[in-house]
Amino acid sequence: MAYRRTLRRDVGCTGIGLHSGKAVRLALKPAPAGHGIRFRRVDVGVEIPASLESLARLDHATTLSKDGVSIETVEHLLSALVGLGVDDVLVEVDGAEVPILDGSAAPFVILIHEAGLRPQRLQRQYLKILRPIEVVRGAKSARLAPADHLEVSYTIGFDHPLLRHQHAAYRVTAETYADQIAPARTFGFLREVETLRRNGLALGGSLENAVVIGESGVLNNKLRFEDEFVRHKILDALGDLALLGYPVIGRLEAVKAGHALHAALAQKLVATPEAFALVAHPQLPVLELPGAALTLEPSV
Ligand SMILES: [Zn+2]
Repeated sequence: MAYRRTLRRDVGCTGIGLHSGKAVRLALKPAPAGHGIRFRRVDVGVEIPASLESLARLDHATTLSKDGVSIETVEHLLSALVGLGVDDVLVEVDGAEVPILDGSAAPFVILIHEAGLRPQRLQRQYLKILRPIEVVRGAKSARLAPADHLEVSYTIGFDHPLLRHQHAAYRVTAETYADQIAPARTFGFLREVETLRRNGLALGGSLENAVVIGESGVLNNKLRFEDEFVRHKILDALGDLALLGYPVIGRLEAVKAGHALHAALAQKLVATPEAFALVAHPQLPVLELPGAALTLEPSV
């Protein structure tokens, strides 16, 4: 049996928003058992749960909203929280965007480690995949299949000599997450930067918080991993799957996917009750009726 976990104490940091370029103060706070991951815009006094119902936009980052109030670029923080097994936390921000920091989830991992984890007196439930679920859009696809652990296999390919094909696969544990996935940074193509800026996006973007790919190579000094790009896609996918509200036990297989496809897969999954079950232990055989216990909010 595993128990839900929260933080031991408050931690926080300040950074700029990737798209707005404005400074944002972020605080991560312990929360009661069953609270889940929730964002609170302290500047406007609105709380936004990290759930599929809150999903608002998926263009260049994942945006959540409630009552007309949004919080943007949540995916790297959500990824770090689920990657390290944090179930209940209140995330306070005083602006419309989670700070981009270095463009990876590594600073959030440091913050969570600094806070420490505390078990709650409530058993954790896992979302176990029982039957494959797939979404396909042309050459892009994302699929969840049964497995005994959380595994991710990701393939990307772009029309650029540096990134024709990259593939990585992990069994995701807190250790592999912190060491192999979290440090991988956001990336973008130089040719796209001007378009983004013209649309008022990426105003806070710089070589400090993104890997920029030019015609002949990477503009930054060096990559953190040779396959940093595909590792970042895995980081993003884990953050998007966090919106399911439960840790997933299954294998994610993605080809040329992105935020929109990750979210479409999660939505198709919750709409297909026979494809999953909520279980107290990831490796026990499923005896209860598949999907019968599903609620999108964790049940207390
Ligand atoms: Zn990302």
